[in-house]
Amino acid sequence: MKRDELEKFQLKHLKQMLNHAYKNSEYYRNSFREAGVAPDDINNLSDLSLLPTIQKDNIRKDQEMKPPLGKMTAVPEDEVVYISVSSGSTGMPTASPFTSQDFEDFMDFEARLFYSSGMRKNDRYCHALNMSLFVGGPCVLGAQKIGALCIHAGTIPSERLLRIMMQFQPTITWTTPSYAWYLGETAEKQGIDVAHDTAINKIFVAGEPGGSIDATKRRIEQLWDADVYDYYGLSDIFGACAGECEEKSGLHFAEDHMIVEVLDLKTGEPVGENEEGEMVLTTIKKMARPMIRFRTGDIVSYENEKCACGRTHKRLMGICGRTDDMLIIKGVNVLPSSVEPVVRNNKKLSGEYRLVVDRVNHLDVLTIEIESTSDYKGDLKLLQSEVQRDLRAVLGITPKVIVYEDGTLPRETHKAKRIKDNRKNVWK
Ligand SMILES: [Zn+2]
Repeated sequence: MKRDELEKFQLKHLKQMLNHAYKNSEYYRNSFREAGVAPDDINNLSDLSLLPTIQKDNIRKDQEMKPPLGKMTAVPEDEVVYISVSSGSTGMPTASPFTSQDFEDFMDFEARLFYSSGMRKNDRYCHALNMSLFVGGPCVLGAQKIGALCIHAGTIPSERLLRIMMQFQPTITWTTPSYAWYLGETAEKQGIDVAHDTAINKIFVAGEPGGSIDATKRRIEQLWDADVYDYYGLSDIFGACAGECEEKSGLHFAEDHMIVEVLDLKTGEPVGENEEGEMVLTTIKKMARPMIRFRTGDIVSYENEKCACGRTHKRLMGICGRTDDMLIIKGVNVLPSSVEPVVRNNKKLSGEYRLVVDRVNHLDVLTIEIESTSDYKGDLKLLQSEVQRDLRAVLGITPKVIVYEDGTLPRETHKAKRIKDNRKNVWK
């Protein structure tokens, strides 16, 4: 579709979506009224800027106030057939609801993204993403729509995954970039050469910026003798919102399902092609819970120009960073501030803490350094596992925990530097 036709299509669906949200979602009706704007005021895609934005925190508070699906949800619960559940690393886990049609649409364009990356019905596809709760789990059904033979592997131990890859010879897999790297090297140690001993010729990666970092991408491609395709998804929207086509010149958004804005970090005004700004997404077909101007926190750049593959959908040219201090550890979002309540509420600890992030064998390792109080005379090992358990509950991953004596960690007089990120090339 030519871009002007595409934009007409988007405007038509946007208007329908705004009316649906205004009529059926108490949250949006209130927030539009507070902003003094009604769906009829939106007659142009650029009028989107009149509407208020939402953030992850709005979703969480909304679901806390009206559990389980919140006032943002615009259909009765009996129309909801699926929810994905976020890791909860930034607080309470949040649900992302889909109607039956929303889910069909989701799988339909997942299939299209896979097809654009070259997947065909004669492929064997090994889905090695987290299958539990995670919105990337069901994407495997998109591959089944293409007619590929699908293996729902999920995140199983690497020895088992390698055995499956050797036995069933899948041609395509999807994982995080750091795990693809780790798996290739682990295999090497076991005397397996993944480039020759497996049939993998395409690797889809998502969940970390690595897939768009040339050095990382090249290394994975060499290890596996395969093409790496970068994908981008969001727990509150879709498992994949964008993916690379065979030209590998940026990630095409599914723009018939969402409108992409990239806004200047200072002024909030839209930036031009190849300029950096925060990505804000609006879904235009998802009925269960419309996402209207969702601030992703991802700093990105884009291109609109028609791709050499012939597709006109806007391309995400790379993620350059975050607007907050969110860490991405093994593909899971970790907000450092969520560590604080755990450390501060434990009377056996001094309350000082530091997060240290390292990359060991291409996998991210998060260490939380804490201090016991000078009065604490109990078992340090016990204290360590207690804090580790509490942190796992809020972060969704298990960090390493090191307990020091009171007074060991640096005290900062101004804004405490609580994060030490030793990784290189985290962002493009
Ligand atoms: Zn393309």
